[in-house]
Amino acid sequence: MPGYEFFGEEERKQVNDVLETGILMRYGFDGPRKGIWKAKELEQAVCETFGCSHAQLVSSGTAALTAALTVLAVGYGDEVIIPAFTFVASFEAILSVGAIPVLVDVDDTLTLSPQAVRNAITKKTKCIMPVHMCGSMADMDALVAICQENNLLLVEDACQSIGGTYKGKKLGTIGDAGTFSFDFVKTITCAEGGVVMTNDKSTYDGIDAYSDHGHDHKGADRGADLHPFIGYNFRISELHAAVGLAQIKKLDQFLAIQRKNHAALKSILSTIPEISFRRVPDEIGDSCTFLSWFLPTTAITKAVVAEMKEQGILAGSFYWFVNNWHYISKWAHLKNAITLNHLHPEIKEAVMQNANKDFSASDAIMGRCVSTSISLLWTPEQILAKGEQMATVIRKVLSEQSVAV
Ligand SMILES: *Cc1c(COP(=O)(O)O)cnc(C)c1O
Repeated sequence: MPGYEFFGEEERKQVNDVLETGILMRYGFDGPRKGIWKAKELEQAVCETFGCSHAQLVSSGTAALTAALTVLAVGYGDEVIIPAFTFVASFEAILSVGAIPVLVDVDDTLTLSPQAVRNAITKKTKCIMPVHMCGSMADMDALVAICQENNLLLVEDACQSIGGTYKGKKLGTIGDAGTFSFDFVKTITCAEGGVVMTNDKSTYDGIDAYSDHGHDHKGADRGADLHPFIGYNFRISELHAAVGLAQIKKLDQFLAIQRKNHAALKSILSTIPEISFRRVPDEIGDSCTFLSWFLPTTAITKAVVAEMKEQGILAGSFYWFVNNWHYISKWAHLKNAITLNHLHPEIKEAVMQNANKDFSASDAIMGRCVSTSISLLWTPEQILAKGEQMATVIRKVLSEQSVAV
Protein backbone atom coordinates (compact mmCIF):
# COMPACT_ATOMS: atom_id res chain seq x y z
CA MET A 1 0.00 0.00 0.00
CA PRO A 2 2.34 2.81 1.02
CA GLY A 3 4.37 4.88 -1.41
CA TYR A 4 6.95 5.49 1.31
CA GLU A 5 8.22 1.98 0.59
CA PHE A 6 9.53 3.31 -2.74
CA PHE A 7 11.09 6.58 -1.57
CA GLY A 8 14.32 7.31 -3.42
CA GLU A 9 16.35 9.35 -5.86
CA GLU A 10 13.33 10.77 -7.68
CA GLU A 11 11.86 12.29 -4.52
CA ARG A 12 15.25 13.68 -3.47
CA LYS A 13 15.72 15.29 -6.88
CA GLN A 14 12.30 16.98 -6.76
CA VAL A 15 12.85 18.28 -3.22
CA ASN A 16 16.31 19.54 -4.17
CA ASP A 17 14.84 21.62 -7.00
CA VAL A 18 12.90 23.51 -4.33
CA LEU A 19 15.79 23.71 -1.88
CA GLU A 20 17.98 25.26 -4.55
CA THR A 21 15.71 28.27 -4.98
CA GLY A 22 14.72 28.39 -1.32
CA ILE A 23 11.14 29.32 -2.28
CA LEU A 24 9.24 26.88 -0.10
CA MET A 25 5.85 28.51 -0.60
CA ARG A 26 3.50 27.68 -3.44
CA TYR A 27 2.22 31.19 -4.19
CA GLY A 28 4.05 34.32 -5.27
CA PHE A 29 7.82 35.02 -5.44
CA ASP A 30 7.58 34.64 -9.21
CA GLY A 31 11.12 35.87 -9.95
CA PRO A 32 13.19 34.13 -7.27
CA ARG A 33 11.49 30.77 -7.79
CA LYS A 34 13.09 30.49 -11.24
CA GLY A 35 10.19 28.68 -12.86
CA ILE A 36 9.84 26.04 -10.10
CA TRP A 37 6.14 25.56 -9.29
CA LYS A 38 5.86 22.09 -7.73
CA ALA A 39 2.31 22.45 -6.35
CA LYS A 40 0.97 23.73 -9.68
CA GLU A 41 2.78 20.95 -11.50
CA LEU A 42 1.37 18.30 -9.18
CA GLU A 43 -2.16 19.69 -9.58
CA GLN A 44 -1.74 19.42 -13.34
CA ALA A 45 -0.49 15.84 -12.94
CA VAL A 46 -3.48 14.97 -10.71
CA CYS A 47 -5.90 16.25 -13.40
CA GLU A 48 -4.14 14.24 -16.10
CA THR A 49 -3.70 11.07 -14.04
CA PHE A 50 -7.22 10.92 -12.64
CA GLY A 51 -9.17 12.56 -15.44
CA CYS A 52 -10.72 15.47 -13.57
CA SER A 53 -11.00 19.08 -14.73
CA HIS A 54 -9.65 20.71 -11.56
CA ALA A 55 -7.48 19.80 -8.59
CA GLN A 56 -6.52 21.86 -5.54
CA LEU A 57 -3.75 20.62 -3.29
CA VAL A 58 -4.14 21.24 0.43
CA SER A 59 -2.28 20.36 3.62
CA SER A 60 -4.01 17.04 4.39
CA GLY A 61 -6.83 14.71 3.42
CA THR A 62 -8.80 16.02 6.40
CA ALA A 63 -8.32 19.58 5.14
CA ALA A 64 -9.44 18.43 1.69
CA LEU A 65 -12.72 17.06 3.09
CA THR A 66 -13.26 20.18 5.20
CA ALA A 67 -12.62 22.52 2.27
CA ALA A 68 -14.86 20.50 -0.04
CA LEU A 69 -17.78 20.54 2.42
CA THR A 70 -17.32 24.25 3.10
CA VAL A 71 -17.26 25.27 -0.54
CA LEU A 72 -20.28 23.08 -1.31
CA ALA A 73 -22.07 25.09 1.39
CA VAL A 74 -22.53 22.23 3.85
CA GLY A 75 -22.89 23.95 7.20
CA TYR A 76 -24.83 24.52 10.37
CA GLY A 77 -27.37 21.83 11.09
CA ASP A 78 -26.97 19.99 7.79
CA GLU A 79 -26.73 16.21 7.98
CA VAL A 80 -23.96 14.35 6.15
CA ILE A 81 -24.27 10.57 5.79
CA ILE A 82 -21.05 8.59 6.34
CA PRO A 83 -20.27 4.92 6.97
CA ALA A 84 -19.71 3.48 10.45
CA PHE A 85 -16.44 2.00 9.15
CA THR A 86 -14.16 4.86 8.11
CA PHE A 87 -11.34 6.98 9.53
CA VAL A 88 -12.04 9.57 12.23
CA ALA A 89 -11.30 12.34 9.69
CA SER A 90 -14.77 11.78 8.18
CA PHE A 91 -16.66 13.07 11.19
CA GLU A 92 -13.95 15.55 12.18
CA ALA A 93 -14.39 17.34 8.84
CA ILE A 94 -18.19 17.32 9.14
CA LEU A 95 -18.15 18.66 12.70
CA SER A 96 -15.64 21.36 11.76
CA VAL A 97 -18.14 22.90 9.33
CA GLY A 98 -20.93 22.81 11.91
CA ALA A 99 -22.77 19.90 10.31
CA ILE A 100 -23.93 16.61 11.83
CA PRO A 101 -22.31 13.28 10.97
CA VAL A 102 -25.00 10.66 10.42
CA LEU A 103 -23.30 7.29 10.64
CA VAL A 104 -24.94 4.37 8.87
CA ASP A 105 -24.20 0.69 8.35
CA VAL A 106 -21.72 -0.78 5.91
CA ASP A 107 -22.34 -3.95 3.90
CA ASP A 108 -19.98 -6.63 2.59
CA THR A 109 -18.34 -4.05 0.30
CA LEU A 110 -16.98 -2.53 3.57
CA THR A 111 -18.52 0.75 2.39
CA LEU A 112 -21.91 2.47 2.65
CA SER A 113 -24.90 0.17 2.36
CA PRO A 114 -27.17 1.95 -0.17
CA GLN A 115 -30.25 0.71 1.71
CA ALA A 116 -28.93 2.06 5.00
CA VAL A 117 -28.31 5.40 3.27
CA ARG A 118 -31.89 5.53 2.01
CA ASN A 119 -33.21 4.77 5.47
CA ALA A 120 -31.16 7.60 6.98
CA ILE A 121 -32.31 10.41 4.69
CA THR A 122 -34.24 13.20 6.41
CA LYS A 123 -35.22 16.76 5.51
CA LYS A 124 -31.88 17.91 6.89
CA THR A 125 -29.72 15.59 4.77
CA LYS A 126 -27.47 17.65 2.51
CA CYS A 127 -24.69 15.35 1.46
CA ILE A 128 -23.65 11.72 1.16
CA MET A 129 -20.00 10.98 1.74
CA PRO A 130 -19.00 7.46 0.70
CA VAL A 131 -15.58 6.37 1.91
CA HIS A 132 -13.78 4.04 -0.48
CA MET A 133 -12.09 2.08 2.28
CA CYS A 134 -9.06 -0.15 1.95
CA GLY A 135 -8.42 0.27 -1.75
CA SER A 136 -11.84 -0.65 -3.11
CA MET A 137 -15.05 1.22 -3.82
CA ALA A 138 -18.60 1.91 -2.78
CA ASP A 139 -21.52 0.99 -5.03
CA MET A 140 -21.43 4.31 -6.87
CA ASP A 141 -24.33 3.70 -9.28
CA ALA A 142 -26.65 3.16 -6.33
CA LEU A 143 -25.32 6.18 -4.42
CA VAL A 144 -25.39 8.50 -7.45
CA ALA A 145 -29.02 7.47 -8.03
CA ILE A 146 -29.93 8.20 -4.39
CA CYS A 147 -28.29 11.63 -4.62
CA GLN A 148 -30.11 12.46 -7.83
CA GLU A 149 -33.49 11.33 -6.51
CA ASN A 150 -33.09 13.33 -3.33
CA ASN A 151 -31.13 16.30 -4.66
CA LEU A 152 -28.13 15.63 -2.43
CA LEU A 153 -24.44 16.41 -2.78
CA LEU A 154 -21.98 13.55 -3.24
CA VAL A 155 -18.48 13.99 -1.81
CA GLU A 156 -16.18 10.99 -2.23
CA ASP A 157 -13.53 10.25 0.36
CA ALA A 158 -11.09 8.32 -1.83
CA CYS A 159 -8.18 8.93 0.56
CA GLN A 160 -7.45 5.19 0.77
CA SER A 161 -8.17 4.29 -2.84
CA ILE A 162 -5.86 6.38 -5.00
CA GLY A 163 -5.86 4.90 -8.52
CA GLY A 164 -8.93 2.72 -8.01
CA THR A 165 -11.69 2.97 -10.62
CA TYR A 166 -15.43 2.35 -10.87
CA LYS A 167 -16.79 1.49 -14.32
CA GLY A 168 -13.88 3.25 -15.96
CA LYS A 169 -13.92 6.41 -13.84
CA LYS A 170 -11.26 7.13 -11.25
CA LEU A 171 -12.50 7.04 -7.66
CA GLY A 172 -12.71 10.60 -6.35
CA THR A 173 -13.83 12.06 -9.69
CA ILE A 174 -17.44 10.80 -9.74
CA GLY A 175 -19.13 13.03 -7.15
CA ASP A 176 -19.47 16.81 -6.84
CA ALA A 177 -16.01 16.68 -5.27
CA GLY A 178 -13.59 13.96 -4.26
CA THR A 179 -10.54 13.84 -2.03
CA PHE A 180 -7.25 12.01 -1.66
CA SER A 181 -4.89 12.04 1.28
CA PHE A 182 -1.17 12.05 0.62
CA ASP A 183 -0.20 11.42 4.24
CA PHE A 184 2.73 9.16 4.98
CA VAL A 185 0.92 5.81 4.78
CA LYS A 186 -1.20 6.40 1.70
CA THR A 187 -0.72 4.90 -1.78
CA ILE A 188 1.29 7.94 -2.82
CA THR A 189 2.64 10.34 -0.24
CA CYS A 190 3.71 13.97 0.11
CA ALA A 191 4.65 13.25 3.78
CA GLU A 192 1.53 15.32 4.55
CA GLY A 193 -0.93 16.60 2.00
CA GLY A 194 -4.23 16.11 0.26
CA VAL A 195 -6.17 17.15 -2.80
CA VAL A 196 -9.72 18.07 -3.74
CA MET A 197 -10.76 17.07 -7.26
CA THR A 198 -13.82 18.39 -9.05
CA ASN A 199 -15.20 18.88 -12.53
CA ASP A 200 -17.00 22.06 -11.54
CA LYS A 201 -15.11 25.31 -12.10
CA SER A 202 -16.91 27.33 -9.45
CA THR A 203 -16.34 24.62 -6.82
CA TYR A 204 -12.68 24.67 -7.74
CA ASP A 205 -12.46 28.47 -7.59
CA GLY A 206 -14.00 28.34 -4.13
CA ILE A 207 -11.52 25.77 -2.85
CA ASP A 208 -8.58 27.57 -4.43
CA ALA A 209 -9.42 30.72 -2.50
CA TYR A 210 -10.82 29.14 0.68
CA SER A 211 -7.68 27.08 1.29
CA ASP A 212 -5.57 30.29 1.18
CA HIS A 213 -7.48 32.69 3.49
CA GLY A 214 -10.05 33.49 0.84
CA HIS A 215 -7.46 35.23 -1.40
CA ASP A 216 -8.99 35.32 -4.85
CA HIS A 217 -5.59 34.85 -6.58
CA LYS A 218 -6.51 37.47 -9.15
CA GLY A 219 -4.28 40.28 -7.88
CA ALA A 220 -1.04 41.34 -9.54
CA ASP A 221 0.71 40.14 -6.37
CA ARG A 222 -0.45 38.55 -3.10
CA GLY A 223 -1.02 41.91 -1.44
CA ALA A 224 -3.42 42.87 -4.23
CA ASP A 225 -5.65 39.80 -3.79
CA LEU A 226 -9.21 40.49 -2.66
CA HIS A 227 -11.26 38.41 -0.22
CA PRO A 228 -14.69 37.68 -1.63
CA PHE A 229 -15.38 35.53 1.46
CA ILE A 230 -13.74 34.44 4.71
CA GLY A 231 -11.28 31.62 4.22
CA TYR A 232 -8.80 29.52 6.10
CA ASN A 233 -5.23 28.30 5.68
CA PHE A 234 -4.97 24.77 4.33
CA ARG A 235 -2.00 25.44 2.01
CA ILE A 236 0.46 22.75 1.02
CA SER A 237 4.18 23.67 0.82
CA GLU A 238 6.39 23.32 -2.21
CA LEU A 239 8.52 20.76 -0.35
CA HIS A 240 5.54 18.48 0.20
CA ALA A 241 4.27 18.93 -3.35
CA ALA A 242 7.74 18.06 -4.67
CA VAL A 243 7.65 14.67 -2.94
CA GLY A 244 4.20 14.02 -4.38
CA LEU A 245 5.33 14.91 -7.86
CA ALA A 246 7.94 12.16 -7.76
CA GLN A 247 5.42 9.73 -6.26
CA ILE A 248 2.60 10.31 -8.75
CA LYS A 249 4.94 9.30 -11.55
CA LYS A 250 5.32 5.91 -9.84
CA LEU A 251 1.60 5.32 -9.29
CA ASP A 252 1.11 2.94 -12.22
CA GLN A 253 4.03 0.89 -11.01
CA PHE A 254 2.64 0.81 -7.44
CA LEU A 255 -0.78 -0.29 -8.68
CA ALA A 256 0.65 -3.05 -10.87
CA ILE A 257 2.68 -4.44 -7.96
CA GLN A 258 -0.26 -4.19 -5.55
CA ARG A 259 -2.54 -6.03 -7.96
CA LYS A 260 -0.01 -8.80 -8.56
CA ASN A 261 0.74 -9.31 -4.85
CA HIS A 262 -2.95 -9.12 -3.93
CA ALA A 263 -3.80 -11.83 -6.47
CA ALA A 264 -1.01 -14.08 -5.21
CA LEU A 265 -2.10 -13.82 -1.58
CA LYS A 266 -5.76 -14.20 -2.48
CA SER A 267 -5.11 -17.41 -4.40
CA ILE A 268 -3.50 -18.96 -1.32
CA LEU A 269 -6.35 -17.98 1.04
CA SER A 270 -8.90 -19.09 -1.57
CA THR A 271 -7.89 -22.70 -0.95
CA ILE A 272 -9.81 -22.53 2.36
CA PRO A 273 -13.52 -22.95 1.58
CA GLU A 274 -14.64 -21.19 4.79
CA ILE A 275 -12.94 -17.94 3.69
CA SER A 276 -14.84 -15.43 1.61
CA PHE A 277 -13.71 -12.06 0.33
CA ARG A 278 -14.95 -8.51 0.35
CA ARG A 279 -17.49 -7.77 -2.40
CA VAL A 280 -15.98 -5.37 -4.91
CA PRO A 281 -18.63 -3.54 -6.99
CA ASP A 282 -16.23 -3.34 -9.96
CA GLU A 283 -13.51 -6.01 -9.60
CA ILE A 284 -11.08 -4.54 -12.11
CA GLY A 285 -11.16 -1.19 -10.33
CA ASP A 286 -9.81 -2.48 -7.02
CA SER A 287 -6.55 -0.63 -6.28
CA CYS A 288 -5.59 -3.66 -4.16
CA THR A 289 -3.94 -1.84 -1.27
CA PHE A 290 -5.50 -4.44 1.04
CA LEU A 291 -6.86 -7.95 0.76
CA SER A 292 -9.99 -8.01 2.94
CA TRP A 293 -11.27 -11.46 3.90
CA PHE A 294 -14.09 -12.86 5.99
CA LEU A 295 -14.42 -15.90 8.24
CA PRO A 296 -17.78 -17.54 9.00
CA THR A 297 -18.32 -16.06 12.49
CA THR A 298 -17.03 -13.30 14.77
CA ALA A 299 -15.91 -15.95 17.31
CA ILE A 300 -13.78 -17.76 14.72
CA THR A 301 -12.34 -14.46 13.50
CA LYS A 302 -11.38 -13.42 17.04
CA ALA A 303 -9.71 -16.81 17.56
CA VAL A 304 -7.80 -16.54 14.27
CA VAL A 305 -6.63 -13.01 15.09
CA ALA A 306 -5.52 -14.14 18.57
CA GLU A 307 -3.62 -17.09 17.10
CA MET A 308 -1.99 -14.91 14.40
CA LYS A 309 -0.86 -12.55 17.16
CA GLU A 310 0.43 -15.47 19.25
CA GLN A 311 2.47 -16.70 16.29
CA GLY A 312 3.82 -13.24 15.51
CA ILE A 313 2.19 -12.97 12.07
CA LEU A 314 -0.48 -10.36 12.77
CA ALA A 315 1.68 -7.40 11.67
CA GLY A 316 0.15 -5.91 8.51
CA SER A 317 -3.24 -7.53 9.12
CA PHE A 318 -5.97 -5.41 10.69
CA TYR A 319 -9.00 -6.50 12.67
CA TRP A 320 -10.92 -3.24 12.33
CA PHE A 321 -13.75 -4.41 14.60
CA VAL A 322 -11.63 -3.62 17.66
CA ASN A 323 -9.57 -0.82 16.07
CA ASN A 324 -9.48 2.63 17.71
CA TRP A 325 -9.14 4.56 14.48
CA HIS A 326 -11.58 3.04 12.08
CA TYR A 327 -14.75 1.66 13.61
CA ILE A 328 -17.67 3.09 15.56
CA SER A 329 -17.38 0.51 18.36
CA LYS A 330 -14.28 2.28 19.74
CA TRP A 331 -15.29 5.91 19.24
CA ALA A 332 -16.32 6.84 22.77
CA HIS A 333 -15.25 10.44 22.05
CA LEU A 334 -17.80 10.68 19.24
CA LYS A 335 -20.53 8.80 21.10
CA ASN A 336 -20.18 11.28 23.96
CA ALA A 337 -19.50 14.26 21.65
CA ILE A 338 -16.39 15.18 23.64
CA THR A 339 -14.83 18.32 22.18
CA LEU A 340 -12.42 20.83 23.67
CA ASN A 341 -14.54 23.79 22.66
CA HIS A 342 -18.29 24.01 23.06
CA LEU A 343 -20.59 22.50 20.48
CA HIS A 344 -23.96 24.11 20.06
CA PRO A 345 -26.21 22.05 22.39
CA GLU A 346 -28.52 21.14 19.52
CA ILE A 347 -25.61 19.83 17.43
CA LYS A 348 -24.15 17.99 20.41
CA GLU A 349 -27.44 16.25 21.04
CA ALA A 350 -27.78 15.25 17.37
CA VAL A 351 -24.19 14.00 17.18
CA MET A 352 -24.68 11.77 20.21
CA GLN A 353 -27.98 10.45 18.98
CA ASN A 354 -26.51 9.50 15.62
CA ALA A 355 -23.41 7.87 17.05
CA ASN A 356 -25.34 5.74 19.53
CA LYS A 357 -27.67 4.01 17.10
CA ASP A 358 -27.78 0.28 16.52
CA PHE A 359 -24.89 -0.82 14.29
CA SER A 360 -25.44 -4.56 14.61
CA ALA A 361 -25.58 -5.00 10.82
CA SER A 362 -22.10 -3.46 10.60
CA ASP A 363 -20.90 -5.49 13.60
CA ALA A 364 -21.95 -8.66 11.76
CA ILE A 365 -19.71 -7.65 8.84
CA MET A 366 -16.77 -6.08 10.66
CA GLY A 367 -16.65 -8.80 13.33
CA ARG A 368 -15.78 -11.32 10.61
CA CYS A 369 -13.40 -9.17 8.55
CA VAL A 370 -9.61 -8.99 8.50
CA SER A 371 -7.73 -6.76 6.05
CA THR A 372 -4.16 -7.62 5.16
CA SER A 373 -2.18 -4.70 3.74
CA ILE A 374 -0.34 -5.42 0.52
CA SER A 375 3.34 -4.46 0.54
CA LEU A 376 5.14 -3.20 -2.56
CA LEU A 377 8.32 -4.86 -1.34
CA TRP A 378 7.21 -8.48 -0.98
CA THR A 379 9.02 -11.09 -3.07
CA PRO A 380 7.00 -14.02 -4.48
CA GLU A 381 8.69 -16.26 -1.90
CA GLN A 382 7.65 -13.95 0.93
CA ILE A 383 4.03 -13.90 -0.25
CA LEU A 384 4.00 -17.68 -0.42
CA ALA A 385 5.48 -17.98 3.08
CA LYS A 386 3.10 -15.36 4.51
CA GLY A 387 0.03 -16.86 2.84
CA GLU A 388 0.88 -20.34 4.03
CA GLN A 389 1.51 -19.22 7.59
CA MET A 390 -1.85 -17.47 7.59
CA ALA A 391 -3.61 -20.46 6.03
CA THR A 392 -2.08 -22.82 8.59
CA VAL A 393 -3.36 -20.71 11.48
CA ILE A 394 -6.82 -20.41 9.92
CA ARG A 395 -7.09 -24.16 9.27
CA LYS A 396 -5.96 -24.92 12.82
CA VAL A 397 -8.58 -22.61 14.36
CA LEU A 398 -11.32 -23.90 12.04
CA SER A 399 -10.59 -27.51 12.99
CA GLU A 400 -10.52 -26.69 16.72
CA GLN A 401 -13.81 -24.82 16.40
CA SER A 402 -15.50 -27.67 14.54
CA VAL A 403 -14.34 -30.07 17.29
CA ALA A 404 -15.71 -27.68 19.94
CA VAL A 405 -19.15 -27.51 18.25
C1 LIG B 1 -6.02 9.09 5.75
C2 LIG B 1 -7.46 9.31 5.62
C3 LIG B 1 -8.04 10.57 5.74
C4 LIG B 1 -7.32 11.79 6.21
O1 LIG B 1 -6.15 12.06 5.62
P1 LIG B 1 -4.99 12.90 6.36
O2 LIG B 1 -4.18 13.33 5.20
O3 LIG B 1 -4.25 11.96 7.25
O4 LIG B 1 -5.64 14.04 7.07
C5 LIG B 1 -9.40 10.69 5.50
N1 LIG B 1 -10.16 9.64 5.21
C6 LIG B 1 -9.64 8.41 5.09
C7 LIG B 1 -10.54 7.27 4.74
C8 LIG B 1 -8.29 8.20 5.33
O5 LIG B 1 -7.80 6.96 5.28
